[in-house]
Amino acid sequence: MNKKHFLVSFYFDLNSPELVSEDAFDDEEFCKLSSELHGFVYSGLQVEWVSSVGLNKRISFVVECNASSLSLLELFKHAFLGETKKVDGVFAIDCVGIISFELDTEQLNCGLCAHCGCWVSDRELELPKPISELSIGAVYQGQLLCDVCLPDNHSWAF
Ligand SMILES: [Zn+2]
Repeated sequence: MNKKHFLVSFYFDLNSPELVSEDAFDDEEFCKLSSELHGFVYSGLQVEWVSSVGLNKRISFVVECNASSLSLLELFKHAFLGETKKVDGVFAIDCVGIISFELDTEQLNCGLCAHCGCWVSDRELELPKPISELSIGAVYQGQLLCDVCLPDNHSWAF
């Protein structure tokens, strides 16, 4: 089996929303969870953070698997489900759901930036629908590029 890539999104609920501002929560949550997920990189799964959305919402990762690491994907997906995580000992988050699917570049609106290699979704394409968890991308002179690699004057350039 060649390498496959999966988008895995964790959905969270905040237990004590009165204790933190929305901005603080995003940073703390991301740092805490990223450090825990690092363990999976060393145990054979390549995990790359791609996006986080808002207060108590969603954190998404791209996970690279081959035949020998595919079984680890299930472990990764269930790393947080149903658990309450303390963040800085002050507030807590519950993982309430997971969405995971294979990033199939033939069927879905996704691919690698031709310049830097990050995962992107073409925002100018209506179908297949853009995948909002991935970086913003567009086709420029026949190449799919991310918003950082698009030329400055492009409407989707970062
Ligand atoms: Zn790029």
